[in-house]
Amino acid sequence: MLNFTVGPVMSSKEILEIGGQQIPYFRTSEFSEIMFENEKLMSKFAKAPTDSRTVFITGSGTAAMEAALMNVFDGHDKVLIVDGGSFGHRFVQLCEIHHIPYETVIPKEGYSVTEEQLSNFDNKGFTGFLVNLDETSKGVLYDIDVISAFCKRNNLFLVVDSISSFLCDEFDMDKLNVQVMITGSQKALACPPGVSMIVLSPKAVERVYSKEVESMYFGLKSALKNGERGQTPFTPAVGILLQINARLKQIESEGGVEAEIAHTAEIAGDFRRKIRHLPFEIVSKSLSNAVTPLHPLNVSAYDIFTCLKDEYGIWVCPNGGEMADRIFRVGHIGCLTIEDNDRLIGAFEDMQKRNLL
Ligand SMILES: *Cc1c(COP(=O)(O)O)cnc(C)c1O
Repeated sequence: MLNFTVGPVMSSKEILEIGGQQIPYFRTSEFSEIMFENEKLMSKFAKAPTDSRTVFITGSGTAAMEAALMNVFDGHDKVLIVDGGSFGHRFVQLCEIHHIPYETVIPKEGYSVTEEQLSNFDNKGFTGFLVNLDETSKGVLYDIDVISAFCKRNNLFLVVDSISSFLCDEFDMDKLNVQVMITGSQKALACPPGVSMIVLSPKAVERVYSKEVESMYFGLKSALKNGERGQTPFTPAVGILLQINARLKQIESEGGVEAEIAHTAEIAGDFRRKIRHLPFEIVSKSLSNAVTPLHPLNVSAYDIFTCLKDEYGIWVCPNGGEMADRIFRVGHIGCLTIEDNDRLIGAFEDMQKRNLL
C-alpha cells in the first residue's frame, strides 16, 4: 500500500512496531514521564509561549476543535470564522451547537482571506477568531500573518486549527499571538488516528480555569490538573500516546520542527515539479506543504482515485460532495519519499497511456 491521502497517513517502521506491542498500564510514573515529554515537545514545536500547556484528548481532531471552543468561548463572545471549506464550516456548526455568536468571512475560491476582507470587520465588537490554518478540504493555506495582525489590532482571542499544517508549514504561536493551537495524531505526526492535542497559551489556560463547562469529557480543567502529574483524567489511547512520543523524539533528534517542515516542503515541491507535463491544474493559489489539490482536465477526479486504489495499490484523497468529480488531493505528509512520488507519477503516466487520464 502506498498512501498519499491527508490522514491517516503512512507511519514509519518504528511507529508501526510500537503499535504491535502490548499496551502498558498507565497510572505509573513511567507513563507520566512520557506524557511530560510529549507536552514539552508539543509546546516546543508549536513555538508556544513560556508556561503554555498542552492537553491530549482521546478523540479525533474534531473533538479537540469542540473542546477548545467550549472551554474558551461562550454566549458573551462574538467570534469571526473563516468559512472557506468543510473544516471551516465545522467551526460554524460547533458555534451553532454551543450558542457562541459568530459571523463568517468567506475567502475567494482557492485564495486566502485578505487584509482588505478582514478590514471590513475592524472595530465591530468581535472577541475571538477561529481559523483552520490549512483548509485541508480545499488545500488552501491561509495567510496567518494577515490574520494575526487583524487579531492583534482588534485584541481578539485567536484559535487556530493547525491539524493539517502542524509540522508542514511555518508556525510560531508566540509571535503570532495565537492563544490556542489544535492538532491531531493522524496528519503530519503520522501516527494512528485517535488522539488530538490542544496547545494553550498562559492566557488560554487562565480562561479555561475561569469558565464553567457543562461536559465531563470535554471540560479541560481536569485535563490541565491531571497533566500537572503527567496524567489524563480518563483512560487515554495509551498506545497512540507512546507512538506520538517516539515520533516527537524522532523529529527532535533529526533537526526539530524546521527540518521536518523542510522535508515536507521537499516532498511537496518535488511532486509539483514532476506533474507539470500531466493534464492537471493545481486549484489552490495558496498552497500548504501538506497537500496539493488537483483538477484533472480530461476525466473525473473520483475515477482517478478509484483506478489508483484498485489497479495500482496507491491511495490519493478524493474530495466529497459536489467537488468529487472535479478535484482530488495528493498529500505530502507521513512517511513518504521521493521514490514514492516517482511511483505515483509512474502510475499517472501509465494511466495516460491507457487513456484514463
Ligand atoms: C483532519 C482535519 C481535522 C480533523 O478531522 P477529524 O476527522 O476529526 O480528525 C480538522 N481540521 C482540519 C483542518 C483537518 O485537516
